[in-house]
Amino acid sequence: MGQFKAVSRSPEEREKYLNEKLRYIIKHAYENAPTAKKKMDAVGVKPSDIRTTKDIEKLPVTTKDELRDLQKENPIFGGFVAVPEENLKTMFISPGPLYDAGNVDYRGQTIAIALSRFNVGKGDRVVNTFSYHMMPLGHWFHQAVLLMGATVIPTGTGGSEAQARTLYELGVTGYIGTASFLDTVLKKAEAQGFDIRRDLKLRWGLFIAEMFPPSLRKHFEEDYGIETMDSWGTADLGVIAYDCEHKAGMHFTDEGGFIEIVDPKTGKQLGPGEVGEVVVTNFDEVYPLIRFGTGDLSKYADEPCACGRFTPRLQGMLGRVGEAIKIRGTFVHPKQVGEVCAKFPVVTKYQLILDRAGQKDVVTLQIETKEEVADKEKLFQDILEYFPKVCTVKANSVKIVPLGAIPEERKIILDQRVWD
Ligand SMILES: [Zn+2]
Repeated sequence: MGQFKAVSRSPEEREKYLNEKLRYIIKHAYENAPTAKKKMDAVGVKPSDIRTTKDIEKLPVTTKDELRDLQKENPIFGGFVAVPEENLKTMFISPGPLYDAGNVDYRGQTIAIALSRFNVGKGDRVVNTFSYHMMPLGHWFHQAVLLMGATVIPTGTGGSEAQARTLYELGVTGYIGTASFLDTVLKKAEAQGFDIRRDLKLRWGLFIAEMFPPSLRKHFEEDYGIETMDSWGTADLGVIAYDCEHKAGMHFTDEGGFIEIVDPKTGKQLGPGEVGEVVVTNFDEVYPLIRFGTGDLSKYADEPCACGRFTPRLQGMLGRVGEAIKIRGTFVHPKQVGEVCAKFPVVTKYQLILDRAGQKDVVTLQIETKEEVADKEKLFQDILEYFPKVCTVKANSVKIVPLGAIPEERKIILDQRVWD
């Protein structure tokens, strides 16, 4: 099934491709989806004003909350569907609750492109462990497996004992679902006496919808020989980023849509390494969402990947908008502070304190340590050096506080700044 393959474009080709796609979808949405037109008219922007990936900043971000309100005001889909409703093949209910008119064919295609990394095709038997009830996720993956010419086994959620037997009895080669559920199923299979490597034909797993810890990835790959792929998407948009064999972040799916990382307050695009909201314009002609604010925080890397592709890569999900705090103009999320401290096993508890001195932010990382640190200066130096690699901004100092000084229930970033 060669038509579904990730296309490698040079940065110039990519820019040209995205500009063309955006011009097309924005014009299409403006002409066919009444609310898309209304929103553009409200800011005085015409489709002809949007020529490039940068121009799209002129358009407002539509948040999930706003989409929900618009759907209530203007049932069913808030005026965002760009085809006559009788042409819709499916209607879904997304968490939120939101109704979703997302086109299964289009969403299946973006996933099929991701699956091409595993050379999925005839002879593959794939369990799809996502729910087939109401929610869209299971159906997209189902469609993707069919598009690749493989056999899909819709097992849905739950029933891990039976799922474990199914892996063996049907000679399953691929798994789609959450990583934690695969872990549960494989443990059941082992308890039933199967040797995963010897008795099962399982060779790959595609995961989405939750954090995929590096330790679990290592376990699947090294202990069981299962190749893994992490991906990211939302019920409203489909799957829009997934990792390649180099696993250095999740490549943007250019075929699925245009991804921006923006300042949640201003909607302006941010550069590589800066933390902001993931905002997506999808290329679904049935249900085009222009600058949809996912509420998820991330950052991206844009140096060329070893796989040869130039698409930027999302660097993990860093929490939700609202939890991040701006320090010297850059959003820092509590999870990033956690990531810094995880690098130093001697640190048992931590809290980042923000103060103001004159017109400057002062950033102090307070830590508790599990034992007396012999060379404190060295530890402080190492932490201060590592801090901006994860958080982009620098911390001013590190301070060891007595055991118990940092409360168990705490804000990881304590903002004591006074703005006067
Ligand atoms: Zn890559």
